[in-house]
Amino acid sequence: MSKYWSEITKNIEPYVCGEQPKDKKYIKLNTNENPYPPSPKVIEAIKMAANEDLRLYPDPNCDELRDTIAEYYDLNRDQVFIGNGSDEVLAFSFLAFFNTNEKIIFPDISYSFYPVYAKLYKLDYKLSSLKEDFSINVEDFLGENGGVVIPNPNAPTAKAIDSDDIKKILQHNSDKVVIIDEAYVDFGCESVVKLIKEYPNLLVIQTLSKSRCLAGIRVGFALGQEELIDGLNRIKNSMNSYTIDRVAAKAAVAAIKDEEYFKECVSKIINTRELVSEKLKSFGFEVIPSKANFIFTCHPDIDGEKLFATLRENGLLVRYFNKPRINNYLRITIGSEDEMNVFLEKLHKIVENILQK
Ligand code: PMP
Repeated sequence: MSKYWSEITKNIEPYVCGEQPKDKKYIKLNTNENPYPPSPKVIEAIKMAANEDLRLYPDPNCDELRDTIAEYYDLNRDQVFIGNGSDEVLAFSFLAFFNTNEKIIFPDISYSFYPVYAKLYKLDYKLSSLKEDFSINVEDFLGENGGVVIPNPNAPTAKAIDSDDIKKILQHNSDKVVIIDEAYVDFGCESVVKLIKEYPNLLVIQTLSKSRCLAGIRVGFALGQEELIDGLNRIKNSMNSYTIDRVAAKAAVAAIKDEEYFKECVSKIINTRELVSEKLKSFGFEVIPSKANFIFTCHPDIDGEKLFATLRENGLLVRYFNKPRINNYLRITIGSEDEMNVFLEKLHKIVENILQK
């Protein structure tokens, strides 16, 4: 605590990112990054963009990138907003669409950045408890609220939500903005982008950090009807007009255009995820069926926190959340096939060891 801090700075509870170790001694399965490198076309685009034009500011509207994304999703440029990672797009959205005198709603087990933004902006919120099987309680989202935020698939549970349930939520909240955070949607979940034409209250947020192998360049985007995108632009242009640099914008365009490489990476990850899920079950783990690039799992006879620590000592970095209901679970990012083979081999030994004691 410092006397120089504002009241806001004193009172916020910042989000804590997953660890980014400086050495490479770990198999890193803790922050849901893609184990595969970006497309060679992306690397080429980055090299081409590293030129004398860097003395100039970038295009504040990211028109080339917006056009590329709009074409990909059959939308128009004015239905696309680009941000510095989807975290920034979320941060702007909370400010653009939610009011302090109404309670927004999101699931009690979901992305832990949502309550951080809510508290930062002094927004009231209520939490909807996930059901026993970690599915969302749709009824909770149909009552009065100041806006809705739902990740699909949910994080950290990796569980998908039915498009019909999202439709119901959109219909019951026609005066409020419903944000569907589709950070992991490409790994086997149905996107609701196609509902944008029908629902002016729908904002879909996606990222290039996961399925496009580009967590390092920080590009995320929102899709919605023009009035929502206008709202986001008003906030952005009251904070920082140049959130995307020239190099990142070119890299992102190349990534969206390389459909073949994207599909190949996603399908490898999905295959590995299914193999790893089966193996974990054979070791006695309970595995929630995953539609993401990670698995949420627990072992009924092993303490989650202890297992997390033992894995870490053995060079395997996964994510553990010390929170009610999920404090026995581990979130394991899907790495490459080779990484996951080493992971499973070591995990098996650790589990046998713990159970024998
Ligand atoms: N939404 C969810 C549900 C996430 O898990 C993450 C990644 N931590 C993000 C958004 C943000 O991703 P990025 O800022 O890298 O686009």
